[in-house]
Amino acid sequence: MSRRFYSFKRTLAIILCVAVSFACAHVLSYKPVKALERDFFSYSPTDEQIDEAKRQREEAQRKADEAASKIRSLKGEKSELSGELAELKNLSDAQLAQYEEIAEEYAAALIAKKEALDKYIKSQENLKAKRIQYSERISVMFAYENKSTLEILLSSKSIAGFFTNLELISLIGDADRQMIDQLTIAMDDAELQNQVALKEAEEMQAIAEEKQGELKELRDRIGVTEEALDRKKSQLSTWEQREDAFREEADRLDDEIRRLQREREEEQRRRQATPTPSGKSGGNNGGGNSGGGNSGGGNNGGGNSGGGNSGGGSQTKPKTKMTWPYPGDYTIYSPYGMRMHPIYKEYRMHWGVDLGGEYGNPIVAAKGGTVIKVEEPVEGQNTGGSNYGNYCVIDHGNGISTAYAHCRDVYVHVGDTVKAGQTIAECGSTGASTGPHLHFEVRVNGEKVDPAPYIT
Ligand SMILES: [Zn+2]
Repeated sequence: MSRRFYSFKRTLAIILCVAVSFACAHVLSYKPVKALERDFFSYSPTDEQIDEAKRQREEAQRKADEAASKIRSLKGEKSELSGELAELKNLSDAQLAQYEEIAEEYAAALIAKKEALDKYIKSQENLKAKRIQYSERISVMFAYENKSTLEILLSSKSIAGFFTNLELISLIGDADRQMIDQLTIAMDDAELQNQVALKEAEEMQAIAEEKQGELKELRDRIGVTEEALDRKKSQLSTWEQREDAFREEADRLDDEIRRLQREREEEQRRRQATPTPSGKSGGNNGGGNSGGGNSGGGNNGGGNSGGGNSGGGSQTKPKTKMTWPYPGDYTIYSPYGMRMHPIYKEYRMHWGVDLGGEYGNPIVAAKGGTVIKVEEPVEGQNTGGSNYGNYCVIDHGNGISTAYAHCRDVYVHVGDTVKAGQTIAECGSTGASTGPHLHFEVRVNGEKVDPAPYIT
């Protein structure tokens, strides 16, 4: 009995010895705070610093987005315009391409910055999470540390509990070691990111700033061109509108001239039917010389009968010849017909001929006839008004009429009879005109035709 008790005591002693030395080994490995040579808690950006990094990351993203949309609009701008505008635009296309390239580099730098900050923030957050885990574990360990390993083991209610506690101590040790490893890795990573990613972000920011500077410089240079372009564009659209309005007015005048000619013919017929008692129709061109009726060669003023009608050959040779309406300058500066518009670089119809001119030079009637329309919205002025400006229309009979546009002054009045070569107006630049000239039109039965064959 006592021998058996002795042998039990001896076995227990051996087990205890083994257990204690085992536990001691664990307890030794079980001092995580000491096991870490670096101090986690001193190395750590504050929450404010991480928030700042996040703010910067978002800012970088926003700016990168902005830059990308600017690049898109730059690319869209390119093939938008035509004509002279396109030429002007071409001048700055090289600049635009350069601008685009730098803008792309700028956007890329911002994105790289954003990504570097991403990594940095992620590593810091990882570290933070690990640290929280670790803190929790440490507080658990401290609860154990208040007891000695022997106490823990001896508090075991049974031999099975003893081994469970022993195992628990060992497990805790392993888990701690793992956690320390993880924490060390997280810290290393965070430290690395702190150095590398933040540095990269800074570098990218510096590049972005440099590119921004280049952009601004280029922008300023291009700005001049773009300003010029804008000015040109608005000028052009104004001119385009003016010319469109002028053309519409010319078409409207076709009808009006037809109507006026018809009215005149009717009145003539009436006069011929009823033998006039005495001039009851006021100043209205006493029927006598019935202006246009005399279409015969009679008033073929300026000896300009040379048959070779230079202008648009599409027309049949006119029966009547006219006097050159702008004495002293026998050049057609802009002919009748489709012409490549010097500014818009597209074909546009010119339905008269441009002659002359200098302000105040005389304009003469191309043929004898009766004045059927006079408009003087800006009488006596060099410029101003719209469309035809100051102008008049003469009916020559047989459905033929002539119009004289952009005058400074018109001397004749509706109903006046004029002779070929008679001064009827003076040259100006009123209405849709860029400089002093005579825009001369010929209509046959209200249709605009090429005046050149009539006057050459
Ligand atoms: Zn013209």
